[in-house]
Amino acid sequence: MNIRLVKPYVGREELENLKGVIDRAWLGRGPLCKEFEDKWNEFLGIKASTAVNSGTAALHLAVLTFGFAEGKKVLVPAMTFCSTANAAIYNDLEPVFVDVVEETLSIDIEDMERKYTKDCTAVIPVHFGGHPAEMDRIVPWAHEKGMKVISDCAHVAGGVYKGRKLGTWADIACFSFQEKKLLSTGDGGMISSDDSELIDPLRVIKEVGMTTDTYARYKQQQQGETKGDPTHWYYEVRRLGYKYNMCDVVAAIGLAQLEKAEYINKNRIETMSKYIDGMKECKHVRPAFPYDMSTPYYDFMVRLESKEARDKFIVHMQNKGIATGVHTMPVPYLPYYRRFNADVPVAMKIWEEYIVLPFFVGMTEQEIKYVLDAVVEFDEKQG
Ligand SMILES: *Cc1c(COP(=O)(O)O)cnc(C)c1O
Repeated sequence: MNIRLVKPYVGREELENLKGVIDRAWLGRGPLCKEFEDKWNEFLGIKASTAVNSGTAALHLAVLTFGFAEGKKVLVPAMTFCSTANAAIYNDLEPVFVDVVEETLSIDIEDMERKYTKDCTAVIPVHFGGHPAEMDRIVPWAHEKGMKVISDCAHVAGGVYKGRKLGTWADIACFSFQEKKLLSTGDGGMISSDDSELIDPLRVIKEVGMTTDTYARYKQQQQGETKGDPTHWYYEVRRLGYKYNMCDVVAAIGLAQLEKAEYINKNRIETMSKYIDGMKECKHVRPAFPYDMSTPYYDFMVRLESKEARDKFIVHMQNKGIATGVHTMPVPYLPYYRRFNADVPVAMKIWEEYIVLPFFVGMTEQEIKYVLDAVVEFDEKQG
């Protein structure tokens, strides 16, 4: 058997929506992007959203919208994908890497206290692997210090923490619909907030700064609203923008994914629970998180006792045709980021003991059992 690591849950519904896009022959930013934003607001229970072409773009713009002064600092966890730190760097801000709590791999609030200086303007907590960061502590702590909270929600889509949707705790939240994420459009992202004044300027900035978008101009012309107006084509660029908008091809897939979100999330929780149950007797291969069964996770990740054991485990799984992966290396470990000061001993010490197992919607019972049998077999061989 060959089992891949992740697989987007796509099919008939996505094709159906894409057919509509082709039939209309409007592939770029159009009505489906707006519909996706509206449905996303409903799904999340939030006031305003704007759709972009990646989670990285979402993070760049979410930081940009606050207009922080150049050279200020942003607190980011060491265990995350590098885009979290890039969001600061793109905006001429300095990332300050904060260590993680070993048990949860979430940003360590005590270390954040230690790293905090007056120059810190924002914190970007990450729900690493789908495990919720302690938003009930982080948000009041940051606000009390006059900082903003930008939530990197790339590993959640509909997840819940203490009865409240992840993405609604912070000042602004960023989602990713990249290939591997919970809802996937190939690539895509969303920026959401209850404060529409943070979102509205981004609708222009994400479209290269153009004050009216092509589809709006097209619609006005079609509906005869611009009849007799020789300046119907006019737009201005009043500030530097980026080509970050989503297009209708992507939104079509996103709308279909959103329809399935409830099922996707339920199915992920079921698989998590089968995995945890199936390895409860294991002594050497342990679930990476204190998995909270009320919220879907992005990764099913396990921890071994050492890098050597992890490497042996990878090869054992490879020999069975089972894909594994490392999500992720600590950002300060990556060569480009070594220019930034980072004292994050926990992340640097433990990251090599983690490994991600195949985890996607539509995994069959046989596939789950096959992975579990391989895990248990390895565990027993360790004595
Ligand atoms: C995937 C990811 C991003 C970036 O999302 P893209 O859509 O790939 O640009 C940001 N942060 C984290 C934690 C991620 O895993």
